[in-house]
Amino acid sequence: MGGPEVERLIGLLARLPGLGPRSARRAALRMLQQPQARMVPLAAALTEAARAVKPCARCGNLDSRDPCGICADPARDHGLVCVVEGVGDLWALERARVHRGVYHVLGGTLSALGGTGPEDLNVAPLLTRVDAQDGEGIDEVILALGATVDGASTAHWLAERLRALSPALRISRVGQGVPIGGALDVLDDGTLAAAVRSRRSV
Ligand SMILES: [Zn+2]
Repeated sequence: MGGPEVERLIGLLARLPGLGPRSARRAALRMLQQPQARMVPLAAALTEAARAVKPCARCGNLDSRDPCGICADPARDHGLVCVVEGVGDLWALERARVHRGVYHVLGGTLSALGGTGPEDLNVAPLLTRVDAQDGEGIDEVILALGATVDGASTAHWLAERLRALSPALRISRVGQGVPIGGALDVLDDGTLAAAVRSRRSV
């Protein structure tokens, strides 16, 4: 159907989250019917994003600038850091406009079963940032990790480490309204805002 070029295009599209083979075929067909209007700009945008976008060395956000636009924004509260599992969670919190501080992206959660330890995550840079002596002057950390078993144990572990580094640090956890096993980026903006506002100290 359509030759190897079309098969390859559909195969690549079908690997994207949210697109199965059927949606991939529809998307490919829509593009192939208007290649100049739909395909060429998309191909250019993909190439440009792949070249320019990298993790921010400070927080782990994906941006074409380093430090990223959030870390470089003087209007944000740099003493307030929200710790999230992934960039999708950061994007969700930004969409909901509930956090006026900066972020730190862990890149996952600790998992005894999955064999994920602190050295596999973006943990050491967080501890450096928060350090009371040599850090960035951070006075509050919000742990906005998913309400999974691994999310909860990661939050508990991190809270202990952070408190040991900086005894005066305020540490809170996002709780209410976060469904068990749910990732932050699937929550609607209102639920997310309520969850962040109702954070509790730990
Ligand atoms: Zn950043």
